[in-house]
Amino acid sequence: MLEIKNLHARIAEDGTEILRGVDLKVKAGEVAAIMGPNGSGKSTLSYVLAGREDYEVTEGDILFNGESVLDMDPAERSAAGLFLAFQYPMEIPGVATMEFLKVAMNAQRKARGQEELKIPELMKRVRGAAEELDMDMSMLKRPLNVGFSGGEKKRAEILQMKLLEPALCVLDETDSGLDIDALKIVADGVNAMRSPDRAIVVITHYQRLLDYIVPDSVHVLYKGRVVKSGDKVLAQELEKSGYAGLVGEAA
Ligand code: ADP
Ligand code: MG
Ligand code: MG
Repeated sequence: MLEIKNLHARIAEDGTEILRGVDLKVKAGEVAAIMGPNGSGKSTLSYVLAGREDYEVTEGDILFNGESVLDMDPAERSAAGLFLAFQYPMEIPGVATMEFLKVAMNAQRKARGQEELKIPELMKRVRGAAEELDMDMSMLKRPLNVGFSGGEKKRAEILQMKLLEPALCVLDETDSGLDIDALKIVADGVNAMRSPDRAIVVITHYQRLLDYIVPDSVHVLYKGRVVKSGDKVLAQELEKSGYAGLVGEAA
């Protein structure tokens, strides 16, 4: 479903290369974890997957279901079924969360050739999903992410993901800033999205999240490249030994 080939990307503004030849394959039905020390390029990879224009791809390719997404803008990628939950979700002042969800869901449906949802049906779906995530319904009236706590932002991201039903979900540091109860709710939300025709990529610095979202594969990103891949045991080893040993190996 996702194939990243020798991906090189730099910061558009100053030309600094951050991704230096990332190779990664994720199959439909798979949950892949990307781990790595701070500053290794994990968030940059998520931005480049989303198509943010602050980054330039200088070499390599990103294939989604066999087709390159490099010429697609962020909205086109989203319509194609790619969903990114960022480490620092964007605040959208002036737009109530419910209104944002309505626009996003109907845009997604339009791209899929489906009819717009009528308001009562839409609200029913949003409320149902919010309830499953143990969210306070009053949040739906507030502008998206504005003044939300860390945990509320993460829940709002998972809510969007549930409602948009993407084929490929990429979650960057979904665990950061969550207490253990919120972490479990978010992990349950992600686990409920597991399906044979969906791939999920979980980006995390810590192994803790992977106790709740058990990955099929684990990849370590270091200095802009995948330096090691394995299964969940690799994540447990990293938890014990830290990244230091691995960094020595990679060097
Ligand atoms: P991670 O998510 O693994 O912690 P990041 O992708 O956030 O790593 O960052 C990788 C490196 O690229 C860091 O050294 C970071 O400072 C740098 N970087 C990323 N984006 C930018 C940017 N827009 N401007 C300046 N430096 C950046
Ligand atoms: Mg970081
Ligand atoms: Mg990051």
